[in-house]
Amino acid sequence: MKLSLYLGSYKNVKVFIHWTFSILLLWIIISNWRQGIPAADIGWTVLFVLLLFVCVVLHEFGHALAAQRYGIQTKDIILYPIGGVARLEKIPEDPKQELWVAIAGPLVNVFIFLVLSVVLTFTGFNLESLEELKINPSTILMYLASANLILAVFNLIPAFPMDGGRILRAFLAIRLPRAKATQIAGGIGQFLAIFFVFFGLFNNPILVLIGIFIFLGASAEVSHTQQQSFLKGYKVKDAIMMRFPILAFDAPLSKAVEKLLNSQATHFVIVKDDVAVGTLSRNQIIQGLKENDEMLPVEKVADFSPLKIETEQDLDEAWRVMMTKNKKVAFIIENGHFLGILDQENISEFVMVKSALSK
Ligand SMILES: [Zn+2]
Repeated sequence: MKLSLYLGSYKNVKVFIHWTFSILLLWIIISNWRQGIPAADIGWTVLFVLLLFVCVVLHEFGHALAAQRYGIQTKDIILYPIGGVARLEKIPEDPKQELWVAIAGPLVNVFIFLVLSVVLTFTGFNLESLEELKINPSTILMYLASANLILAVFNLIPAFPMDGGRILRAFLAIRLPRAKATQIAGGIGQFLAIFFVFFGLFNNPILVLIGIFIFLGASAEVSHTQQQSFLKGYKVKDAIMMRFPILAFDAPLSKAVEKLLNSQATHFVIVKDDVAVGTLSRNQIIQGLKENDEMLPVEKVADFSPLKIETEQDLDEAWRVMMTKNKKVAFIIENGHFLGILDQENISEFVMVKSALSK
């Protein structure tokens, strides 16, 4: 989160704004100023953009609070120049829950649109002034109302992983297996993404960015869901690794480097008095070498708070926890005793083998 500014939190959901957002504001100010637009008008445009992003935050809170109702927490909401992202701990697997979580965001914008429309009905408005593309005290609410309507409609385009795509997936998943539903929604999303990029090249560069974002997001989600569906029905004990490279806690980094270069190992279990106490990854070794020298004991860079998972836990759940906690390795525990490890690569291999066998 170093590249983002913390804005505040509500109901345990933290809101951050990404640094690239300042480029958007600067670009608006400079491009308007070069056209000779008066400072006061530029101020109104900037205010409009800020208010619009408040609406985007409210949209993301729609998702986050709907998810909270199903016991799913949201890590944070990050605002980028092309929109906001609410990072949910996980996506609900029950199609009905996913439907509500996905639709809650656009519904917030529809609600804001309706409220502003009522206000505008009382204060009076002139639709023709929308064509002038000039934001000032008498048009800003009207612009904000239209922008919210556009946000709602745009997000409902069935391009997975946008909200509309998730709604589509949820509908398909009522009848089809989730992996199949994701594949279909992902395919439609990628088709629309290519269309966005192509159309955007001639009209609007932001659409190109959004198209690329959708394309990559769709393929990531499809492989993620497939992986998860292959893990279904297995327990952690089915994929446990009982043989793994170890290192003593006081061994120098040079020893780790030697083992790293001489084998397939990318991480190690750190032992002290014959007890497994932590893990050491390739990245931690490299980091240690950069900041110190190779005589540094491995305990200075190792991770001594490894993730602990029970053998009887479901494999898909274990994998999800490892992904969210960003742990490449986890300790597998049975009756309070260390039994072996589980690593992400090894889970991927497990999936490859299972999917090859299922053909
Ligand atoms: Zn949304």
